[in-house]
Amino acid sequence: MKDCLFCRILRGEIPARKIYEDGEILAFHDVNPQAPVHFLLIPKKHIPSLMELSAEDASLMGRLLFKAQELAIQEGCGEMGARFVFNCRAHGGQTVDHLHLHVLGGRFLSWPPG
Ligand code: 5GP
Ligand code: ZN
Repeated sequence: MKDCLFCRILRGEIPARKIYEDGEILAFHDVNPQAPVHFLLIPKKHIPSLMELSAEDASLMGRLLFKAQELAIQEGCGEMGARFVFNCRAHGGQTVDHLHLHVLGGRFLSWPPG
């Protein structure tokens, strides 16, 4: 997608501090971290949000979740845990319309969200 911010990161038009990349997934640090650990995983396929997932994306999303687990451990969250978040559309607080999984850790995170 031409004007999508995360597609622009994927094309290298906007720099990002990458953690992991393969043929279908990119992980990078959030530019405005909300916790000591805060990174995002995105599919390289432009999917606007979780609401647009289809059955053909099932295995991709399974791999993305397992990669999130692996990277959360790598980033030091294995013992104390982390929060894995998909913000979706307006009520979910989504600001970038390219599906992304937030991984936040390194401190206690309260619940419920405000
Ligand atoms: P959302 O609010 O859509 O769930 O999350 C979008 C996230 O993308 C936010 O946490 C925001 O800080 C992050 N973000 C926005 N623009 C950029 C950018 O140019 N680079 C990086 N690394 N993160 C960004
Ligand atoms: Zn995109």
